[in-house]
Amino acid sequence: MSDKKLATVAVRTGIESDTQHNAVVPPIYLTSTYSFPQLGDLPQYDYSRSGNPTRNMLADALSELEGGAGGVVTNCGTAAINLLASALLGPDDLVIAPHDCYGGTYRLFNTRAGKGDFKVEFIDQSDPDVLAAALARKPKLVWVETPSNPLLRVVDVAELCEQSKQVGALVAVDNTFLSPILQQPIALGADFVVHSTTKYINGHSDVVGGVLISKEAEQAENIAWWANCIGATGAPFDAYLTLRGLRTLAPRMKMHEENSAQVLAYLQTQSLVGQIYHPSQPDHPGHDIAVKQQKGFGSMLSFELAGSYRQLEVFVSALTCFSLAESLGGTESLIAHPASMTHRAMSDEAQVEAGIKPSLLRLSVGLEDPSDLIADLEQAFKQAAEVTE
Ligand SMILES: *Cc1c(COP(=O)(O)O)cnc(C)c1O
Repeated sequence: MSDKKLATVAVRTGIESDTQHNAVVPPIYLTSTYSFPQLGDLPQYDYSRSGNPTRNMLADALSELEGGAGGVVTNCGTAAINLLASALLGPDDLVIAPHDCYGGTYRLFNTRAGKGDFKVEFIDQSDPDVLAAALARKPKLVWVETPSNPLLRVVDVAELCEQSKQVGALVAVDNTFLSPILQQPIALGADFVVHSTTKYINGHSDVVGGVLISKEAEQAENIAWWANCIGATGAPFDAYLTLRGLRTLAPRMKMHEENSAQVLAYLQTQSLVGQIYHPSQPDHPGHDIAVKQQKGFGSMLSFELAGSYRQLEVFVSALTCFSLAESLGGTESLIAHPASMTHRAMSDEAQVEAGIKPSLLRLSVGLEDPSDLIADLEQAFKQAAEVTE
């Protein structure tokens, strides 16, 4: 592992590594197969499901950024989660997951548990009594998502890792919302880090991808074996694009954050804005923990529209600088309605349990000029305020 700063690792991994033509930018290897030098000699690469130089370069960069021993780049973030479950869990093993985790994570764990592949319990990890009772059942894996989606609840990773270790549980952290630039779970004690690289890491909303990084080399090897076994690895072209996006991760994260701070300050002045959810807010649950374990508050934020459902509809459709879309972390700003979009796989009861109200809206603040974003919100709030039905 190098002693370089994160921005430098993101920019320079693989640069000037081409020995054939001295290309500064590493070439892309679009091949499914590789020739064997001679009969009986197993080359480093034999088939691109198991290994590909472009994909491995991205995996190495991400693993280094997260301080892991190795990573596997998968075809999407969900595949990375599924890969960990496949590699680690049997029918008697229990997973403790947060009740407000990413909707697809909830669906995956819930469905596979329903088939008897493993057991799962969804809990409020910020409630110490509930957490202690769940850990007493000796889970194999504790799944953490912090800040959580869409309410940005914060979990104390170091504390949870400490408690999990005492009962022999492994800890995996979904670090999608902050990226390694703003949070490094392995340094806080986690055994695995997962990303949907679809989001900030690629950062341009044009690739779906994921990565699973292991703290220990032995686990990394085991997981690479499983990735080949179940066919979870990503395409080289996607890896190439993601590595290109990764180059600017550090400055993008900084600017995303600056823009979201300005949007947040504006939202606080609006009468149609109810509760705001963002770790930067001093009254946000987990604000102090965020200050301790994060290197920034991130740029995802949610708020409740203090008005009728009709007003919410008018507000959302009046926006021109925020596209109504799922996903996050791209250069363009997005707005989502978790109850009907990202979290629709959850039953109404599960949504209530997780605190996801029909009035909740989630913003992924992009890299447009913040004054345009604020002006756009302003005109949309005006239109919503005029709704009388
Ligand atoms: C998007 C997302 C995922 C799933 O990733 P895909 O690339 O869409 O499969 C998992 N966790 C979080 C927090 C996400 O935002």
